[in-house]
Amino acid sequence: MSKSSGYNRRVIPVDEALEIVLRETPSLPTEEVALEEALGRVLAEEVCADADMPPFDRAAMDGYAVRATDVASVPASLAVVGEVAAGGWPDREVGPGEAVRIMTGAPVPGGATAVQQVEKTRALEGGRRVEILASVPPGAHIAPRGSEVRAGERVLERGTTIGSAVSAVLASTGHARVSVARRPRVAVLVTGDEIVDVAAAPGPGQIRNSNGPAVAAQARLAGAEVRLLGVAPDREDETVAVLGEALSGGPDVLTVSGGVSAGDYDLVEPALEQLGVALLFTRVAIKPGAPLVFGRRNDTLVFGLPGNPVSAQVTFDVFVRAALLRMQGARVVSRPRVEVELLAPMKNRSGRKAHLPARVRFEDGRLVARPVRSMGSGDLVAHARANALVALDAERTRAEAGERAGAVLLEGFLEDDGAPI
Ligand code: AMP
Ligand code: MG
Repeated sequence: MSKSSGYNRRVIPVDEALEIVLRETPSLPTEEVALEEALGRVLAEEVCADADMPPFDRAAMDGYAVRATDVASVPASLAVVGEVAAGGWPDREVGPGEAVRIMTGAPVPGGATAVQQVEKTRALEGGRRVEILASVPPGAHIAPRGSEVRAGERVLERGTTIGSAVSAVLASTGHARVSVARRPRVAVLVTGDEIVDVAAAPGPGQIRNSNGPAVAAQARLAGAEVRLLGVAPDREDETVAVLGEALSGGPDVLTVSGGVSAGDYDLVEPALEQLGVALLFTRVAIKPGAPLVFGRRNDTLVFGLPGNPVSAQVTFDVFVRAALLRMQGARVVSRPRVEVELLAPMKNRSGRKAHLPARVRFEDGRLVARPVRSMGSGDLVAHARANALVALDAERTRAEAGERAGAVLLEGFLEDDGAPI
């Protein structure tokens, strides 16, 4: 098939490719979901506190609410004139020479200026009096009303990804339902006559489909709903038919892996052209993964990922994940980047920006990276052992042990036990 159409066939730098992808990424509509369904979704509204936080002067310890001046010299014996538990409300003030027994989370009675913890007191006369054994400064163990957040203050930005801590903020500001971007719909197709389903026994010359499950998992981790379309054989008519079918469903993103390099059976690019996908680039200076096709048809973004398992995953991570997060309105679309010190040399003779598998850990006050031994872009086991990708620019052909380099932290980073591989 001829490759005569007008789009750019030059190999473009990673940053330029990412810019094109993000520029072409449309925004998804929003929907309301229950808070418990919102994990991993992107907040489509800004959230303000509906009340002061804390909503009242709150005891931070179990103990006694006192007037700090009464306990300036100790021991001080005070009359216990009441008790207030969490969920209760004080029915009287604390006068001179008085104390109120108080529990963590309970409102501090008027008149009291401090709470002394129970461990620094001694109950007398069956609890009718208390001896305070240590002084407390005014304000001790009291979280004043509104000291964390004032009513009306903004507590969450639009575009925040909802994790556990954000869920706590949504809950405490009364958001039983939250407005989020609708989940991106991602159709996942893989190609290759040699590819068999994970449940099948590979025959001679065959391998199991690992890209389908990997890409589906990556998409889900980025908040998407996935439709797995199976394996397309390396035939032009079938490739066009299956891709056409996938596009007709109008997914937000279609990914297809394999069939994008220069081999005789690499049919994806011409098939996409035939189906009216406007191709925006087809080669990116990234290693692993140079052949990377990106195009758009209406509101569907199409990514032709390389077939090599590590290339497919890395290019997904850099480009498709960013697009999925951007379409949901996320403020942050790239993974955390850190600077690491290399524990062994790393090479990059590719002339492209390399992403090399490594294990990063914290050691003696710095982040260090040990390269994971990898046979290259087919070595999906090495990739799974990595918790980070060390990035070496195209010009940096070699980095020595002790040198510094940038690294992108992957999903498993916090699970790493630091053991060398
Ligand atoms: P291709 O880009 O189609 O030339 O494929 C490049 C390499 O990736 C070949 O070794 C393929 O067998 C392998 N490959 C392609 N698709 C998959 C897949 N879905 N799962 C695992 N390996 C694949
Ligand atoms: Mg193939």
